[in-house]
Order: sequence, then C-alpha cells, then structure tokens
Amino acid sequence: MSTEPVSKRLAAGASMPAPSDNVLTNTQNAVHEALQRLGYDDTVYELLKEPVRVLTVRIPVRMDNGETQVFTGYRAQHNDSIGPTKGGIRFHPNVTLDEVKALSIWMSIKCGIFNLPYGGAKGGIICDPREMSIVEQERLARGYVRAVSQIVGPAKDIPAPDVYTNPQIMAWMYDEYSRIRELDSPNFITGKPLVLGGSQGREKATALGVVIAMREAAAKLGKNMQDLSVNIQGFGNVGSNVALILHEMGVRVTGISDAGGGLYNEKGLNIAELIDQKDSFGMVTPAYQNVLSNEDFLLQPCDVLIPAALENQIHSGNADQIKTSIIVEAANGPTTPKADEILMHKGVLLIPDVLANAGGVTVSYFEWVQNNQGWYWTEEEVNQRMEDLMVKSVHNILQTAERYRVSTRLAAYMVGMRPYAEAMRWRGWM
Ligand code: GLU
Repeated sequence: MSTEPVSKRLAAGASMPAPSDNVLTNTQNAVHEALQRLGYDDTVYELLKEPVRVLTVRIPVRMDNGETQVFTGYRAQHNDSIGPTKGGIRFHPNVTLDEVKALSIWMSIKCGIFNLPYGGAKGGIICDPREMSIVEQERLARGYVRAVSQIVGPAKDIPAPDVYTNPQIMAWMYDEYSRIRELDSPNFITGKPLVLGGSQGREKATALGVVIAMREAAAKLGKNMQDLSVNIQGFGNVGSNVALILHEMGVRVTGISDAGGGLYNEKGLNIAELIDQKDSFGMVTPAYQNVLSNEDFLLQPCDVLIPAALENQIHSGNADQIKTSIIVEAANGPTTPKADEILMHKGVLLIPDVLANAGGVTVSYFEWVQNNQGWYWTEEEVNQRMEDLMVKSVHNILQTAERYRVSTRLAAYMVGMRPYAEAMRWRGWM
C-alpha cells in the first residue's frame, strides 16, 4: 500500500490511469465512429467533437488563514440543439479542461439515450475539498456561480452534483444564483436538498439505475441477481449506495474499495457496518487490516465488477487479468478503448457508463420538471419512472449492438448521438 497521505491520492477508490489515455481524444474517436456508422457526414462530427461553448474562470477565495487563493474552474456546454445543457460540477485536484469537455460529451450521450430534452454540459474546479474547511468550500462554490452566472440558468444550462460535490454545495450555489438574479429559481440546479426543491430519490438515483442496469444485464445472460457476487470500486455516493441497495436485496457484495485500497471477502462483506464507518469522502479502509492495493483489488474474482470511481481504471495493463463476466460502469469513463477490445474478446458483457449511470441525470430531469411545475412526486413515482426508462434503454442498446454488430459502447454512442445530429439538421445548422 502507498505511504502517501490518503488526501494526496486519487478520489474514491481510483488507481493510477494508463498515462497515454486522453479521455477527450478517446471520446472523439468513438463519436466519430458512431456518426460514421449512422451515415452522417463529417460536418456533423465537426460540431459534435467539441463543446459548443467552454468557459474557463479564475476564482479568488479568502481562505481561513486570511490569505486569498485563486482557483481555476471550467464549464463546458456540449450541444444546445435540443434544449438547455445539463451536467454536474466536480471538485477534484486532477480536473483538466479535456476531462471536463469529455464529460460534457458523455452527458449529451446520456440525455440522448434517455430522450431527455437537454444537451450535455459539465463543470469542474481544480481543488482538493478534502483539505478545505466547510466555509472555504462554500466560498469556492459561491465564487464559481458568480464566475459562470452569465452562461448558466434554468433555460440555458442546469448544473448538478458530481465527484466530491453534494446537496449542500448545490444549496449554496442555488442561493448564490438566486441572489444574483434577485429571483428564487430552484430549477437553476438539481441535486438540491429536499427542503429546497430537491427530488425524492435523487440522492440514490444513480446507484439505483446502476443496479437496475445490472439486473437487466444478468437476465440477458440468464442469471439471477441473487446468485451473483459483486465487487465495487469506489465508495463515494454512487459506490456506497450501489453496495447498500444490493445488500438490502440479498446480493453478495464481495469487494469494495476507496482511495486507500480495497477489501475483499468471497463470503460477502458487512456493508451496513462499512457504510456506518465511511467518512463524507467515501473513505473506510483506514480502519481495516488486509487492505488490498487498488490494482490488486480490481483483479479479485467476481461475477459483476462495478467501477464507481474515476476515469481510465480498467486499461490495457489489467483488462486481461480481470475475472468477471459483467462490468457495469457506474463511474464516467472507467474503461479505456484498448481495455474495451480486450474485454469484448474475453466475452465480458459491458454496460457502458453513458447507459448505466444515467439514472442520476434522469432523476435530475425529474427534479427540474417538478421545480418547473411546482408539483412534487413521491419516491415511488420517481423510482418507477426512472426504472421504466432504464429498462427500455438497456434493451435498446443491447438490441442496437446486436443489429449493427458493434460493441455495447459504440451502440450507446450511436443511439445517444443521433438525436443531436437530427435536431441540428431540422434547425438548418447542417
Ligand atoms: N454528475 C452526474 C452525471 O455524471 C449527474 C448529472 C446531472 O444530474 O445533471 O451523470
């Protein structure tokens, strides 16, 4: 195990990515291939390969020691041909502009697959919230909203939580936006606390969607959920909630990991106890012995592997040794294209990120709809509506992959990109 302080390592269970993998280049290549398969010419690709709008901001924040620190933040809006753009804001020391751009393209694909009336967007701030006080995080969140306020809004671009951001940060951002606009607009941001217009079911939505996608994938292979063992990389909001939902369903969670390493027990882990012990950044392993390195953790046998940390975790260096039959990507971009090929060759059924984790943005859309109409749904209604869309989408992607004889990822890119190509044509842009 590394002796480096945990706070200096990557987020929520991430191991080191393969150095050559640029998520933006990889995403652009996949978008290009998807559009070609669909028969669109390269002009369409020219507009879809990059966000239509990107803003870089510098945010001065008064720190608790009295000094001012200047942070860099980004907001990328991928495509606005269908409606306002939508996507989370991440706080992380490794945020880069290319990563934020790729994440905004993935958001478009998610919205396209689920027929949400949005294009994709993403925001990020280079910072380490694990080393900041709560008040410093509040000042940073408010400063970011002031810096991007011209290009965001309920009919322009609607932010949400992502890595290391949460309902409290959404609440501060909402408050700051309302002050700037002198108007209470809960529909400006999603993932809010319930009392400020959040939606029932939003906090667990991504995780619930991942579990539903996993159930459908297992059924496709003729397997029952209850007979499967599951390893989950990452114990943040998504990873820990996936573990909890599976545990409550009686499914054996054999492995979990965080930024400090992983725990594995083939008989199953005590998830309730682990959740009780984790901190707000998803750290739980420091209290345990026999902690595996993150590289070793990914190689432990299981029926289903759920990466729920950061990008490029499954790469050409480890894909061959991964012992699983299903991968459900809860994280965004956890698998490199080379690893995709290796896994496909091995016969692993892969449920790609843009499909598996889109339960989050889907319930964000429900939150925005409820805010717009001022009429709120029960948790059962929210979950049922999301489940219906997830089941339909999983089957749509699996069928598309079979029909075109392509990977599930390429099928997802094809289904997710088509609405934007069509909308741009109707609008006369192409
Ligand atoms: N950050 C989440 C994602 O990557 C949710 C985005 C949203 O709810 O708008 O899908």
